[in-house]
Amino acid sequence: MTANLAELAVGLAWLVAIFVPLEWARPAWASQRRIRKGSAADLAFMAGQYLLFGGLVVGWLSWASEGVGQPAWLSAVQAKFAEQPLALQAAQAIVLGDLLMYVGHRLQHRVDFLWRFHAVHHTSERLDFLAAHREHPLDGLYTQTLMNLPAVALGLPIEQLLGLIVFRSLWAIFIHSNVRLSLGRLQVLLGGPALHHWHHANDRHAGNYANLAPWIDWFMGTYRCPPTEPQTLGLDGPHPRGYFALLLWPFIPRRIAGRLWSAGLHGRERFSGG
Ligand SMILES: [Zn+2]
Ligand SMILES: [Zn+2]
Repeated sequence: MTANLAELAVGLAWLVAIFVPLEWARPAWASQRRIRKGSAADLAFMAGQYLLFGGLVVGWLSWASEGVGQPAWLSAVQAKFAEQPLALQAAQAIVLGDLLMYVGHRLQHRVDFLWRFHAVHHTSERLDFLAAHREHPLDGLYTQTLMNLPAVALGLPIEQLLGLIVFRSLWAIFIHSNVRLSLGRLQVLLGGPALHHWHHANDRHAGNYANLAPWIDWFMGTYRCPPTEPQTLGLDGPHPRGYFALLLWPFIPRRIAGRLWSAGLHGRERFSGG
């Protein structure tokens, strides 16, 4: 536990060192404060991932990548896959993972059962590098499984698989950060924070479902890139704000949850700092 706490502190220090200067130099919302509404809950989600849930996901993916009881045809595909240079293997795993995750993310927004868990991520009313960690552990398990399924099925070596998980995690933190970077026309290929900020606009079907590959959104007609940043983020309905309540929220019938948390619901507000 002490080692995990030390890891959490080191991880947070690295993120602060990377993202605080970036958010200070190129803010998307210049008046947003460093310690703002929801910071404590986001920090709790980060701690939960470092201390418990992240390890469970990595353990599950490592176990799956050992290929216990896989069919012979899959072993043959893996042998062909392994003949390629590692960079090509990683590129294929990333593209296939993105395609699968695009479908998975659209389902998270469309299917009510999946939305119950994914909605926790969308309760953020302010975005920065810390807000990226706001994710229900079961939603995180779903996302990580889909995203890494092609890499696991194709037999990408575990070291590369772990590297891929770290790379994707850092990218996810980057696209939530309070940063505005203009990539011009390249944005449709590489994406960036602006696209994911619009994904967090207060509309369940806001678009921009791909994290790494916005060309999939462009191709599917869900690409959305207005010239300014969204000013109202989060969910319109009543929802809890604390860490433990957000963990429980998906399991509580909506009728009861609506009554439980509507008392604390303040009106939706446009962004005004804080
Ligand atoms: Zn989403
Ligand atoms: Zn997000």
